Amino acid sequence: MMKSRWKRRLAGCWLAAALAGCASVNTTQSGVVGVNRSQSMLLSSQQVEQLSARGYAQQLSQARAAGVLNADPALKARVNRVAQRLIAQTPVFRPDAARWKWEVNVLKKDEPNAYAMAGGKIMVYSGLVTQLKLTDAELAAVVGHEIAHALREHSRESMSQAYAQQMGLSLVGALAGLQQSQLDLAALVGDVALSKPHSRTMESEADIIGLELMARAGYDPNAAVKVWQKMQAAGNGGGAEFLSTHPSGATRIRDLQARIPQVWPLYQAAAAGKGRG
Ligand SMILES: [Zn+2]
Repeated sequence: MMKSRWKRRLAGCWLAAALAGCASVNTTQSGVVGVNRSQSMLLSSQQVEQLSARGYAQQLSQARAAGVLNADPALKARVNRVAQRLIAQTPVFRPDAARWKWEVNVLKKDEPNAYAMAGGKIMVYSGLVTQLKLTDAELAAVVGHEIAHALREHSRESMSQAYAQQMGLSLVGALAGLQQSQLDLAALVGDVALSKPHSRTMESEADIIGLELMARAGYDPNAAVKVWQKMQAAGNGGGAEFLSTHPSGATRIRDLQARIPQVWPLYQAAAAGKGRG
């Protein structure tokens, strides 16, 4: 059966709503950066978190078996320290994040990469820090960006879109008298949560929420601009996955720069607080 354009259009959330109930939600509070786009969700947070937790555990056990999990205790401690300062700020965007089972791990791999899966499962590749020679503030910019994807449940949103599309195609098949195919959720997770790039809208939400998180945690938000400039320079030579799913261009850097005045008072307040302590 041909996957023609009109069939894909049929597979929108309105169709899914008729079949299974599609919720329009806003996963986070807007913060000073003002992210308030409502999101169409077909899958529940619990479904996606369970699948993510399973996928994360699998990656940890594979890394452990290969001897590449948290192989450098000093790096692991450093990444953890930065991540914990950011995690402490997440309730500003969603109070329930304070109860998430956050995990932070470092995979020894010479590739710049990092991700945070649904429910707060963070992974940083050693190559991100060593190859790009990141400062703590630059590391906070990348980890903050990934935490923001998790807070906004972008994977749940992408998976819901993919699921609705599959469901729509199945319905078209059923109407045509063909047998309805099984929807493979697990395959969707692997596909969407780990390898597919997020939309540009999602990327820019993660950029500005991440910027606010790092400022509130007392990291100079200008480091976010620096780190994307470093990525841009590194991207010219390599084919790393993170760089391909996170294109660092002039627009991204300019948008971040434009947001710095908005979060600057938060950074100053946090830095002053640290000075007192
Ligand atoms: Zn991203």
